[in-house]
Amino acid sequence: MQFETGLEFARQLDRDDPLARFRDEFNFPRQSDGSPEIYLCGNSLGLQPKRARDYVTAELDKWATLGVKGHFSGDHPWMPYHEFLAESSAALVGASADEVVVMNSLTANLHLMMVTFFRPTSERYKIVIEDHAFPSDHYAVESQLRFHGIDPEDGMLLVKPREGEELVRQEDVETLVREQGDEIALMLLPGVQYYTGQVWNIEAITRLAQTRGICVGFDLAHAVGNVPLQLHDWQVDFACWCSYKYLNSGPGSVGGCFVHRRHASDTALPRFAGWWGHDKESRFRMENRFQPIPTAEGWQLSNPPILSLAAIRASLDIFQEAGGMAPLRHKSEKLTAYLQFLLEQRTGKFINIITPLDPQQRGCQLSLCCDAKHLSGRELHKRLEDNGVTCDWREPNVIRIAPVPLYNSFEDVYRFVDLLAAACNE
Ligand SMILES: *Cc1c(COP(=O)(O)O)cnc(C)c1O
Repeated sequence: MQFETGLEFARQLDRDDPLARFRDEFNFPRQSDGSPEIYLCGNSLGLQPKRARDYVTAELDKWATLGVKGHFSGDHPWMPYHEFLAESSAALVGASADEVVVMNSLTANLHLMMVTFFRPTSERYKIVIEDHAFPSDHYAVESQLRFHGIDPEDGMLLVKPREGEELVRQEDVETLVREQGDEIALMLLPGVQYYTGQVWNIEAITRLAQTRGICVGFDLAHAVGNVPLQLHDWQVDFACWCSYKYLNSGPGSVGGCFVHRRHASDTALPRFAGWWGHDKESRFRMENRFQPIPTAEGWQLSNPPILSLAAIRASLDIFQEAGGMAPLRHKSEKLTAYLQFLLEQRTGKFINIITPLDPQQRGCQLSLCCDAKHLSGRELHKRLEDNGVTCDWREPNVIRIAPVPLYNSFEDVYRFVDLLAAACNE
């Protein structure tokens, strides 16, 4: 598509956008003059769906009027409440409902998954993780290694970009697996890298790893709700994500977990257990022999926080109404390509995009390094915030801009670049 630089062109793209009406489903934070912020931070905390309040209030009302009977009454009884989220969550990651469970938080789920899928032996005991992984993932992996008596210096294999580069090359991952595959027990990698916005080739990495007998898990914090996923068909062993970024489910809301059916149905797999993972028919007999549910639900520990699940359900309903990831991805590619076009046209001298320029290798986010001599990246970020743009600054030197197809407009992108260009050209 041929883009143009003017504001009227952005407005025309918005008029032609079949998903434009979903913007009105969300609450936008306001500037001091009452106008909505240019919110480009959905990669950090997704906006609040207006209906989230109704869904949460409904459960508060149920609690007020029904007390404990709320577990079994109403349209959405609490007892099976997590089941109402399975189908729509599964659709977002390309799985069946029995392979997905909404539970806990992301880092907690990474640990639970590693308890099952990181079973080191004296020959095969290493974990591959990227050097610039989100710190929580690093801590989780390091502590799992130590828990098994393995020194992370020895047990942690880091994949990183080559000297002077920002992105990890697929061929370097392949070389690592070719050379050290027999010692690797687990690869834990991102779906979309949080800092650069690079999409990892989940399918190729999974195939590569599994031909060498390696288990593969993905952290989908920045991938879910952002890029299309086919976890089942790609044969991924497990995956975890949070729901407060692109899934717009509220700060600290409950995360999600995928366990491929070939594992989920295997009740003999070792795990850390809790009563909510126990067979539903006999759960309330309160007997002591643990009998896991033969689905991803078998990894649940506790009965879940319903108020948080209600907010997730509100958000997942919107994803369904929008038609799922295919139309969202279609708009997303256009929105981000438009952002790239405007940045190149208007700020090319000052801004270096470190995210891949190939749309297949990125989601909605572009990560920008500031090269303006008179202005540091941090100052530039401050200038944007002062002018009503909410976007995210990440050390050491990147401004992350995430135009989200559910609620951002082409005009948002236009106005953002207009403000950025003004700051750069001062
Ligand atoms: C956001 C994010 C987290 C946060 O973990 P929580 O357990 O949800 O606090 C972890 N890993 C990655 C890659 C993230 O992007």
